[in-house]
Amino acid sequence: MTTGVALFGATGSIGESTLSVIEAHPERFHLEVVSAHSSVDKLVRIIERFQPKHVILTDQTQANALMEKLPKSFNGSLAFGEHSLAEAACASEVDVVMAAIVGGAGLVSTYAAVSAGKRVCVANKEALVMGGELMMAEAEAKGAMLLPIDSEHNAMFQCLPEAYVVGQPIAGLKQLVLTCSGGPFREWSIDAMAAATPDQAVAHPNWSMGRKISVDSATLMNKGLELIEATHLFNVPESAIDVVIHPESTVHSLVEFVDGSMLAQLGSPDMRIPIAHALGFPDRLDINVERLNLTKLSKLHFEAVNHEAFPALALARQASAEGGDRPIILNAANEVAVDAFLNEYIAFTEITELVSDCLNQIARQPISSIDDVLSIDRMSRQIADVWIRERA
Ligand code: NAD
Ligand code: MG
Repeated sequence: MTTGVALFGATGSIGESTLSVIEAHPERFHLEVVSAHSSVDKLVRIIERFQPKHVILTDQTQANALMEKLPKSFNGSLAFGEHSLAEAACASEVDVVMAAIVGGAGLVSTYAAVSAGKRVCVANKEALVMGGELMMAEAEAKGAMLLPIDSEHNAMFQCLPEAYVVGQPIAGLKQLVLTCSGGPFREWSIDAMAAATPDQAVAHPNWSMGRKISVDSATLMNKGLELIEATHLFNVPESAIDVVIHPESTVHSLVEFVDGSMLAQLGSPDMRIPIAHALGFPDRLDINVERLNLTKLSKLHFEAVNHEAFPALALARQASAEGGDRPIILNAANEVAVDAFLNEYIAFTEITELVSDCLNQIARQPISSIDDVLSIDRMSRQIADVWIRERA
């Protein structure tokens, strides 16, 4: 019996890397479920390549396009709409859910996979930023095993003892050290960034990723989201997480212990490494990735974050310290702002401005359920939309 994988967000960058790992190990994995939002042609190629048992297209308006192009050889089942993800996450044939949808759109399905007690590989960091406390409590209650896919969190997890359970306190921890490439604008002036184009922002120096996370990497909001993500996955306050610029993206993060030991995980900047680690855990899967050549690397650099040029990280740190609804607002406003920037409605530097204004404008509200999270998310998006319309 091979492990049944449900891959949510199969047509994205993490989706493609996951498919590549699964393809390299047919003796261990089969694709039980795949989902895509609207990229019908990519989805059709995945169906031809893997013959998954169940296919979900979340954007119902593309249903006819998929029906027309569906390969004759496909003999699995089809479903449409977001609600189909949560249903599929619970199926008994699904052993592992790879949560690789981008943004808050992945929250409900990631939470459903956790509620179903599955092994959940979490790439969808926004789901943890929004609902981290509820998600971690649910994982503990339902016995779901969370495994980090984000390269930094996967690196930290690899530096912990094998018996460590994600969400538990780390014995002997001094601090977590989150490394950050600095993004494409690391050496740019604030004025130059104000005039940056979407193409410049998505041109990451080391990683090839989806457009949203690429812009987040340019503002450093990605590091802010990752800081919040780490507080939940590793049960630490934000004050126990240091962020260090490391332009080579070779040391993927570190864990420092009270005895002065620092452990790090190194590797090529290739998401197939953390994906293979999480899918195979606790085994190691042999995959065909570029190996590090230490003598060629020769030097690794580390420097402090320039908070004046990149205010997003401090905003996220504050949202994390204040907790409650703040990270939800931060995430929602950021998603709206990034989308507006990619569509050239606002300037690059206005992304963080918009996030900051939304946080200041919205009064604190308590959250006790995923429905509360979704309602604060919706409200924040409306306020962010108004901000953009008023600017335009
Ligand atoms: P991407 O844009 O390349 O792909 C996103 C996927 O989500 C696609 O399959 C798309 O069809 C699906 N999707 C988009 N909107 C949707 C919606 N409304 N409903 C349902 N599905 C929807 O993104 P990506 O770069 O693969 O990133 C995916 C997640 O992984 C993000 O949360 C990102 O932060 C995280 N992550 C990515 C990388 C990376 O290297 N790409 C690294 C670390 C973490
Ligand atoms: Mg990362």
